[in-house]
Amino acid sequence: MQRTVVMNAEGWPGIETASKMLQEGAAPLDVVEQAIRLTEQEVQVTTVGFGGAPNALGVMQLDASIMNGDTIETAAIGAIEGIMHPISVAREMLKRLPHVMLVGEGAQRFALECGFKKEDVLAPEAKKRYELWKSQNFKEKLIDIFKANDGSGSHGTVISLVRAQHGSFAGGVSTSGWDFKFPGRLGDSPIIGAGLYVDSRYGGAACTHCGENAIRTSLARSVVLYMKKGATVRDAVAEGMDDLKGLKGGYQGQVVIYALDKAGNHFVARRFKEGKMCQYLVWSDGMDRFRKMDTNYVDA
Ligand code: ASP
Repeated sequence: MQRTVVMNAEGWPGIETASKMLQEGAAPLDVVEQAIRLTEQEVQVTTVGFGGAPNALGVMQLDASIMNGDTIETAAIGAIEGIMHPISVAREMLKRLPHVMLVGEGAQRFALECGFKKEDVLAPEAKKRYELWKSQNFKEKLIDIFKANDGSGSHGTVISLVRAQHGSFAGGVSTSGWDFKFPGRLGDSPIIGAGLYVDSRYGGAACTHCGENAIRTSLARSVVLYMKKGATVRDAVAEGMDDLKGLKGGYQGQVVIYALDKAGNHFVARRFKEGKMCQYLVWSDGMDRFRKMDTNYVDA
């Protein structure tokens, strides 16, 4: 059975470790958590964890989620402040709470009770980027900064989809969200079924870029459901793109879908041809080292 790990380009600090851990027989949740932790602590990744971007008030609010494809157990953390590794907080929640989502102060309280340290998670480089943005864009009344169809903000996420031996799946995502977002804004990453879904019987999917659009289409769950209904991984992603095409009004931003079917075949695509071309990272049995691949373009 094909062992596979798929990460997006932001996952470069974690992919090598993830592929080694998989080869050594680590549990898929451990692989996902470790690969994402390495990304969260990497200051050069400017959209996740320590290196990520704060909200419009200069406060770092991080989102993450994790999912066990064998049991369909999920845990999501939204807008947590002062904690370096939201993915590990989510992992801890899988083990210690009957809940599936914690946000803000409650999420931080849970983390501290579990023994996580409160830290300054705003890297000096990110603070500089914020100060520059603030000098050009800030308004006391924050609603005056945003427009309903304005996609000028940039963002990014780290995603990890893992298929271990015997077909067990796990997935995880972590992000600082939309750069300089409205405080409290959640994207798709902490919304199970939007930014992440895995089910070992059918496969897994994760999304990046405009989280609002992935939420509006319940995108990750939809892609897995298309595979459940018999679509190939490529067709399932194309159906997901078609769902995005049905969105009317609001901001119609770029979305990238990463999907892995139950046999370990992957397909990654984005909807709009314009914009930055992105790559993703894959390791599978038979590869000496992970490979960088170009995303496909699907305008369903
Ligand atoms: N999907 C993330 C969010 O909306 C950001 C991204 O991946 O670009 O928060």
